[in-house]
Amino acid sequence: MIPFLDLKNINQQYRDELIEACTRVVDSGWYIGGHELETFEKSFAKYCGTQYAVGVANGLDALILTLRAWKELGRLHDGDEVIVPSNTYIASILAITENNLTPVLVEPDISTCNIDPSKITQAITEKTRVILAVHLYGQLADMPKIMQIAKQYNLLVLEDSAQSHGAQLQGKKAGNWGNASGFSFYPGKNLGALGDAGILTTNDETLAQTIRALGNYGSFHKYENHYKGLNSRLDEIQAAMLSVKLKYLNREIERRREIAQLYLEGIQNPLIELPVIQGNTNQYLSHVWHLFVIRTKHREALQKTLSEHDIQTLIHYPISPHKQQAYQEWNPLSYPISEAIHAEVLSLPIDPTLSIDQVNFIIQVLNQFN
Ligand SMILES: *Cc1c(COP(=O)(O)O)cnc(C)c1O
Repeated sequence: MIPFLDLKNINQQYRDELIEACTRVVDSGWYIGGHELETFEKSFAKYCGTQYAVGVANGLDALILTLRAWKELGRLHDGDEVIVPSNTYIASILAITENNLTPVLVEPDISTCNIDPSKITQAITEKTRVILAVHLYGQLADMPKIMQIAKQYNLLVLEDSAQSHGAQLQGKKAGNWGNASGFSFYPGKNLGALGDAGILTTNDETLAQTIRALGNYGSFHKYENHYKGLNSRLDEIQAAMLSVKLKYLNREIERRREIAQLYLEGIQNPLIELPVIQGNTNQYLSHVWHLFVIRTKHREALQKTLSEHDIQTLIHYPISPHKQQAYQEWNPLSYPISEAIHAEVLSLPIDPTLSIDQVNFIIQVLNQFN
C-alpha cells in the first residue's frame, strides 16, 4: 500500500534527535514560554527572512490573532471587508468571520488554484481593508501583483502560508511578502510538529508584540491585562520538535520537488490536467509541493482505480467554503471556478519518503487509466 502521507516514516528519519530534544524539555522542568520557543522563533524568522516570529497554538490562531491585533491597533473595525480566495481551506475564512469582519470571496485562476489578481481589483470597495492571500497547495500566490494592488489601494496583506513554508519568489519567502503571515505546523504540513502548533511572522514590531500579548491573556506583563485576550501559545515541547525538523525542511522540499518533476514529466494522459507553476519554470522555487493536485472530470473512477492498485489519494477539498453548512448564507451563491476545482481535484501522494519506484508505479497506473 502506498499511503498518501506516512508521518511515521517521515518522523522516523529524525527519531534520535527528536527523542533527545524531548528528553531535554522533560528534564528542563520548563514547559511553556522558555528557551525552546525563543530559539525556534528566532530560527524560523531567520528562515523566512522576517524580523519577528511569534509562536501560537495553531495556524488558525495565527490568522485570527493577526486580524484581532489589527483591530486592537485601530487598523480594522467590525464589518470591514477582507478579500480571500473562494477556494481556500475553510480556516482562512473562519479567521475573518471570527473577528466580525466580512469575507469577500474572489475566484482563483483555475490553472494555479491561487487567487486571480485581476479579479481582486473588481472586488475592492470603500470597506476593503485586507487582502488575505493564500499560498494554496504550496505555491506562492502572485505576490508581486497582489502587493502592487495593496499599495495602490492602501490595503493590509495577510498571507496564509500554512501550506507553503519555504516557497520563494524573487528571493523573498512566504511569510515575508505581506504585512504579516500565519503558518501552521499541523503534523501533516511540510514543516509539521508532533501535535498542534503555529506561528506568525512579520516585520512590524508593534504587531508582533500585540499578538504575543493577545495570545497570553492580553497581557504584556504578568497579571496586567491590557486586552481581553486568549490563551494561544506554542509549547516548549513542540518548539523543540520543530527546531529539529526545521534543519531538514529544505532537504524535504527538494525531495518533494524531485517527485513533482517525475509526475510532471511522466504523467501523460489526456484525461488528467497537471498542476501548473505560475509564470515559467524559472519560478520553480515558488512551489514547495505541499500537495500535488491534479484535476480530472473522472475523479471518482480515477480514485477508485488508484485505490485498487493500493495507492491512497485525498481530495483537497471536496466542498467549497460557500457550499458549507457553516456558511449557509452563501449556499445560494455561485463561484463557478471554485466549484469546478472542488469537483475535479485529486491529490496524489507526494510524501518525501516515497521511493522513485513507488512514484513510477503511480505514474504507470495514471497513464493506463482510460
Ligand atoms: C492547515 C491550514 C490552516 C490551519 O492550520 P491549523 O494549524 O490546522 O489550525 C489554515 N490555512 C490553510 C490554508 C491550511 O492549509
